[in-house]
Amino acid sequence: MVRTRFAPSPTGDPHVGNVRTAIFAWAQARASGGQFILRLEDTDQNRLVPESVERIYDSLRWLGLDWDEGPDVGGPHAPYVQSERLPLYQEAASRLIAEGKAYRCFCTAERLDAMRAQQAAAKQPPGYDGRCRTIPPAESAARAMSEPFTVRFKMKREGQTVLHDLVRGAVVFENALQDDFVALKSDGFPTYHLAVVVDDTAMGITHAIRGEEWISSAPKHLQLYEALGWAPTAFAHLPLILGPDHKKLSKRSGDTALLDYRDRGYLPEAMLNFLALLGWSLDEKTNLLSREELASAFTIERVVPNPAVFDAGRLDWLNGHYVRQMSPEAWLETVVAWAERGLPPSVPRPLDHAVLAAAAPLLQERVARLEEIPAMVAPLFGFQAPEFDAALLTERAGGPAAAVRVLDAAILALDRVGEGDWTREAVEAAVRSLEETLGQKLRKFVAVLYVAVLGSPQGTPLFDSLAILGRERALERLRAARARAEHRG
Ligand code: GLU
Repeated sequence: MVRTRFAPSPTGDPHVGNVRTAIFAWAQARASGGQFILRLEDTDQNRLVPESVERIYDSLRWLGLDWDEGPDVGGPHAPYVQSERLPLYQEAASRLIAEGKAYRCFCTAERLDAMRAQQAAAKQPPGYDGRCRTIPPAESAARAMSEPFTVRFKMKREGQTVLHDLVRGAVVFENALQDDFVALKSDGFPTYHLAVVVDDTAMGITHAIRGEEWISSAPKHLQLYEALGWAPTAFAHLPLILGPDHKKLSKRSGDTALLDYRDRGYLPEAMLNFLALLGWSLDEKTNLLSREELASAFTIERVVPNPAVFDAGRLDWLNGHYVRQMSPEAWLETVVAWAERGLPPSVPRPLDHAVLAAAAPLLQERVARLEEIPAMVAPLFGFQAPEFDAALLTERAGGPAAAVRVLDAAILALDRVGEGDWTREAVEAAVRSLEETLGQKLRKFVAVLYVAVLGSPQGTPLFDSLAILGRERALERLRAARARAEHRG
């Protein structure tokens, strides 16, 4: 049975790169009828951010990635938190020492710093020089009574270590370039290398799916497996995610916390779809993919080794797609929630539901991110149009006099539409009649009306907006704009 895991370190909010790893590991388990395990790798106690545990759960839940075993749900291999499993790592380290495959290292931090400085000065590659490798076992045991020590693993010095990566094929590492790494720290905590090998074995993990940044650790893990007499997991190192500038994804190019995307109004369906296609594809053409499709069709064999590019425009496009897929009811609820939260406190609460209900279908056609909702509905509230720069009005018209002319004609035409006849169709007919009155095409003068009515040359469609505002407010806004245009003349 396939068992995969997501093994984040709770050192901060999971970023999109971490979450892409979780998606692939989850999908690999689901698509092969296997199990997905969540494990917290908290061995670096100095870097812990306790709140990040909840953020990890929230991130996975938001995307609908469910786990079969984990710190919160337990399971047959509990505990699923590394700091609660210390005896297991210590046992493995002791066995390695007893079998001569690891040794106690008594080098102090000062000595190691000096060694590194020397290596840097001599332009040698950094790495432990092996000083404690040859301490006789009896002496080592005696010194351990009174001196702090780490446990270093004896890496082979000759030959090669070959990783058969599911994504990259055979990757060859020269053993001469490896050094004896610390497996157990002096505080009794394991390093990542020892912990990952012990836990993946103890938890029956079949596939270690992780980011490319870990590939250089693979020879350490493979040699540890061999030394401990355990069969290694299969490995899949996922391609890097690059920004649009083809540099490593940075905070500026999109590598922020997953939950920031939620807070900016991306839908989980869009985010999952988007991240799933960073380095993997179903075939040559499929762009749209549901969680269910991913969970049935994912194969690690279709992950490509070359880097994936994070294209925020594509994410917006996908989000717009999923926005338009929502049922009218669900969409209205979303609009209400985002408007309640995002409109300024000056707009009376609860918000006028009729306005939101009328605006919702218009927004569903136009919004890419939910964060755009408040600004798009704001002009439909309040008596006056939102603040705008009068220059917007007059420049669009080609001068103050021209703006006054357009607005006068519009006021005259719309004033003829009675209160009881004020529908979208009626206001459209009235505005279109201005083409004849003004001798201009609609597109020439429509921006003036947009600015007058909504305070901006774009927004919800003009005729709908006029209808939603109602006769009194629409005419008031046109008159106020006319006064401003005239004042500028
Ligand atoms: N704790 C590692 C991380 O934070 C996990 C690496 C792995 O999946 O083996 O990325």
